[in-house]
Amino acid sequence: MIVAFDLDGTTLDSMGELEALAVSYMCEGYGVEQELARCWYRQSVGLPFREQLETTALPGHLANPEIARRFERDKAKIYVGLPLFPEVQGVMSSLEHLAVDTALVSSTKTALVERVADRWQLPCLTYGYDGRRRWSKTRQLESLAITYDDVLFVGDARSDLDTALRAGVRFVGINRGAPWSYFGLGVVVVNDLYDVLGCLK
Ligand SMILES: [Mg+2]
Repeated sequence: MIVAFDLDGTTLDSMGELEALAVSYMCEGYGVEQELARCWYRQSVGLPFREQLETTALPGHLANPEIARRFERDKAKIYVGLPLFPEVQGVMSSLEHLAVDTALVSSTKTALVERVADRWQLPCLTYGYDGRRRWSKTRQLESLAITYDDVLFVGDARSDLDTALRAGVRFVGINRGAPWSYFGLGVVVVNDLYDVLGCLK
């Protein structure tokens, strides 16, 4: 069995910084107010940023490639310096002691995912978006799972639940400030990654 952790907002405390970058470039590129840009960003968080622009922001807008380019450029500059959530290393080492494999799955570029894992010495497999065949998080999870119980995916966004459903794997939501995203959906939501240890079968 493998416990697969989403990276942004689940493992890495990155959402505040990434949202600020995204909102700033969307406001500049589209000429819209911050509140609207923030709303668009939050609606599709968890997807690769370019896909966010093409789904919940302004699909087909001529500014999308440049907004995405600037966002990715600045994200790469700050990303590896961002902190992990405090319980991450302890939880991963507890899972290692239990002989449970771990993985990071992400819509972030593979090289950045690997640098984060290296910086914090995380004992896990790493998957990113621009790796083999530009694998989405769904394909990353599918590559780890043969049966439903092979993978427990832990994520912080509503789109992570959809990803788990598409990949046919188990899902646990982590409450990082928006637990209502899962209300009424029958999803197990934990408040701390240590609680995931109680969700292993
Ligand atoms: Mg996330």
